[in-house]
Amino acid sequence: MAAQILDGKSLAAAVRLAVKESVSRLAQRGIRPGLAVILAGDDPASRVYVRHKTLACEETGVQSRVLTFDRSVSQNQLVETVEALNADPAIHGILVQLPLPRPIDAARVLALVSPAKDVDGFHAMNLGALVTGAPGFVPCTPAGVMRLLAHAQVPIAGRHAVVIGRSNIVGKPLALLLLQKDATVTICHSKTRELEKVTRGADILIAAVGRAKLVTGDMVKSGACVIDVGVNRGADGKLAGDVDFDAVKNVAGSITPVPGGVGPMTIAMLLENCLRAATS
Ligand code: NAP
Repeated sequence: MAAQILDGKSLAAAVRLAVKESVSRLAQRGIRPGLAVILAGDDPASRVYVRHKTLACEETGVQSRVLTFDRSVSQNQLVETVEALNADPAIHGILVQLPLPRPIDAARVLALVSPAKDVDGFHAMNLGALVTGAPGFVPCTPAGVMRLLAHAQVPIAGRHAVVIGRSNIVGKPLALLLLQKDATVTICHSKTRELEKVTRGADILIAAVGRAKLVTGDMVKSGACVIDVGVNRGADGKLAGDVDFDAVKNVAGSITPVPGGVGPMTIAMLLENCLRAATS
């Protein structure tokens, strides 16, 4: 039987609608959530992501301000920009679009963002809160994956969740969130031996690597829930995930498509974080 498709596009639309309603209620109290986006350099994918984010802001009534810099921007310029945004009462959320051009020290720039405005959840204080289970901003992509799982009522407690990828922005926070929900979690990476043996034990398999069709049908347990975070652009210009969707959909119990799975949820979670930043 073909897998249930976990439709991130429609769930994200429902989240955006709820955000829009909350934003109009806030307007009655004279509050308008504001998001500032720092976009530096000429990475074409970054420009597309920022465009999607600002469109989502427009749709929901969140005010967005994009500050663009060319690739010769200095570390000092970015530091001063972040400091000014930290002090700006009209800005509740600050997002530094990665990657920043070389030789900018991205970690130093991210560390300057006020944790209270860190709607991407990349600041060490928010990541630390995630480790200890304290309240804080959760990175948007992992939060979006958890929302998809919750919405589809995928059982997590006691299940074996395998996360392929250990980045600070996707793999590690996702593993922590799954652990918080009582999954038994395995994290895989480029040095993992016999990846397919590990993935075949997964009740929930999450691919966050950036390699098209890394996960093939024979790597998936029958009935497993497969979440594809990967975004890869093929030679034909089309987007593809890390999962061989056509093969895996015949084995998995449920699966996210690319596009239309995790991607829209990431932006929806960003909007929710902005709303939270404006009201806390
Ligand atoms: P990243 O920082 O490059 O991390 C990739 C991870 O994959 C690393 O931990 C790496 O292992 C691991 N890896 C690489 N090759 C592997 C292999 N053959 N087997 C097992 N693991 C392997 O990437 P990221 O920022 O986490 O992003 C991952 C993917 O998600 C990318 O395609 C990105 O575009 C996408 N993404 C999507 C969204 C969205 O909204 N949909 C948001 C963010 C990212 P090592 O640590 O050993 O190098």
